Amino acid sequence: MAFRAWFRPPRHILTIFLGVAVVSAGTLGWLSWLLLQQDRALDLQRRQERLEQAADRATAVMRGALADLELRLASPSARTSKAPHGVVVLFSDPTGVIDGVRPTGGLLYYPTPEQMSDLPTAPFIVAEQAEFARQDLVAAAEQYTALASEGDAAGTAVRAGALAGLARVHRKARHPDAALAAYDELAALSDVRVGGLPAGLVARAGRARMFEEFARAPELRGEAAQLGRELRGGRWRLTKSQYQFYSAEALRWLGPPEPEIEVPDLHAEAVALADAVQWLWEERPWEAGPSPEPASRRLVQMSDIPVLAVWNASGERLQVGVAGPRYLATLAREAVPDGDLEWTLTDPAGRVVLGTPSLSPLAVRTAAASRLPWSLQVHAATGLDLSPTSPRQGLLSWVLVLLAAVWMTGAYFVVRAITRELAVERLQSDFVAGVSHEFRSPLSSLSQIAEMLVSDRFTSEDLRQQAYGVLARETDRLRRLVEGLLDFGRFSAGGADYHFEPLAIGPFLETLVAEFRTRAAATDHTIELMLPSETTYIRGDRDALTRAIWNLLDNAVKYSPDRPTVWVDVVREQDRVSLTVRDQGFGIPPDEQRAIFERFVRGAESKARRIKGTGVGLSMMQRIAEAHGGEIRLTSQPGQGSRFTMMLTLLSTSDALGTGEGLA
Ligand code: ADP
Repeated sequence: MAFRAWFRPPRHILTIFLGVAVVSAGTLGWLSWLLLQQDRALDLQRRQERLEQAADRATAVMRGALADLELRLASPSARTSKAPHGVVVLFSDPTGVIDGVRPTGGLLYYPTPEQMSDLPTAPFIVAEQAEFARQDLVAAAEQYTALASEGDAAGTAVRAGALAGLARVHRKARHPDAALAAYDELAALSDVRVGGLPAGLVARAGRARMFEEFARAPELRGEAAQLGRELRGGRWRLTKSQYQFYSAEALRWLGPPEPEIEVPDLHAEAVALADAVQWLWEERPWEAGPSPEPASRRLVQMSDIPVLAVWNASGERLQVGVAGPRYLATLAREAVPDGDLEWTLTDPAGRVVLGTPSLSPLAVRTAAASRLPWSLQVHAATGLDLSPTSPRQGLLSWVLVLLAAVWMTGAYFVVRAITRELAVERLQSDFVAGVSHEFRSPLSSLSQIAEMLVSDRFTSEDLRQQAYGVLARETDRLRRLVEGLLDFGRFSAGGADYHFEPLAIGPFLETLVAEFRTRAAATDHTIELMLPSETTYIRGDRDALTRAIWNLLDNAVKYSPDRPTVWVDVVREQDRVSLTVRDQGFGIPPDEQRAIFERFVRGAESKARRIKGTGVGLSMMQRIAEAHGGEIRLTSQPGQGSRFTMMLTLLSTSDALGTGEGLA
């Protein structure tokens, strides 16, 4: 039943509108959503394609670069030509002895000590006996000096050994200047080996030791700093233990603070390269194991620093190239030149070796697939929006938002209209209930009395007279009710016809109030009328004004049951007359003061107190006031009473008594 009621006009139009709106907005929204998703998918696909292409290009570039590197290793001119930037190339004879390095000093330390012929011990026997057995330093010095001068003939190795011995003896004899002179001579022999160490290093370390013994601190520091620089620059051909030993010595001699290495990363890389070479020489992948790889490449990690090792042992000789992060990064940058793309190299275990780990979609080329020593990932640069919306997507999103907004606004108005209509319906049914109630009580008393009269049940004439009185009152009440409703119909309708005429407000009100007093007597209310002293004319419709003022008085009496006085004040203003009906009843709360002027609306208090009414009086009065060119003003305080004021047009006496021109 309630469902069917929804489809009664005009609500069905709203319902249908709402339905159509929901369905169309839903469909549109759904379609846009689909389109948006499709667009995104397409976008992602395009992005992925670009990554894949970049990855393919990068793999090709890397493969080309590695092939080129291998070719250069194998080329006959490799020993003399420049090694590619960041690559250290080693050449070794078939026995594995390293006999060439490019660039010179490129390796910090070597896996094998330098091959050298044994130093003949015979020439030194006499000198060493004097130095160590007899402790005859003068004799020892003479012997060493002699050896050093004839050493030229015996070979630079003997000369170097003799100079080292001479310097040592002078040091022991505490002849620093003589010792220094010997060391200088020794230093000049540079790479000649003394006891397995380069003469230059022996001289440098010897000098430092001497300065230490003689507590010549500034010179010691200078010497130690120089030694450190030479070591880090790969100046000497040393084994790892020699390098580490002299590095530690240099540090100790320098004392705190520790020297700042110019480029620590580069030093770490140089260490990693030297370690990688050491590892290669231990592993010997070109000949060891069940499946030796005479020519191959591998990515190894040395203390977390990636090193690319390339070797070729297929010919007679072995060539090895090692390159660290510097080379790898340059290579990767060349391979992935696009600014908004990034790369990551990972080892076969999936660990990131170089580059920034990816958070975004990526294209991967595994080591196996690309035949590179690493896996390559290409991805969007970090910080780059991974799903930027295309202009179309942006537009679509806006359309969606707009659609939602339009739909919501529409729905709001529809719901509001329906709610209002429901409220009006409720008010109307309240009105019908109110009207029926108002009619029922006089009608039932009328029918009761009439029946009693017919059956002649009144025992005395007196009682019969009283019954006639009741009949007359109730009939009058009914008449007023009907008239009230008819007037409501008449005055509420838009084109009600009013008959305006000049009205002397004094006599008019006196008559009306006098008539009302008989009605008010039933509730013991008195009406106080205050009129202006001079005769005042207004322009008005007698019937309508009577209806309006009667209603105001009726309300004032009805809604002030415990306050027996109601006032009617008429005040002349410039060109207007204000008519106020005032009571001290229970008043009207502020939140109801607007609504009660609407049709069928009744105050909560009056309903709670079960005061009879239909809720049409004030709306009708407002229409009447408007027709008189004025309005009804209300001021009220709950619990203190209400005051309704009606503004009417003042007429000058001459206008009022004249021909009445211009008056309808
Ligand atoms: P009715 O009196 O039949 O209910 P009206 O349109 O005349 O209808 O008044 C509407 C409502 O305004 C009343 O139900 C009542 O709540 C309130 N009202 C009107 N006049 C007064 C008054 N003088 N004092 C208190 N409330 C009033």
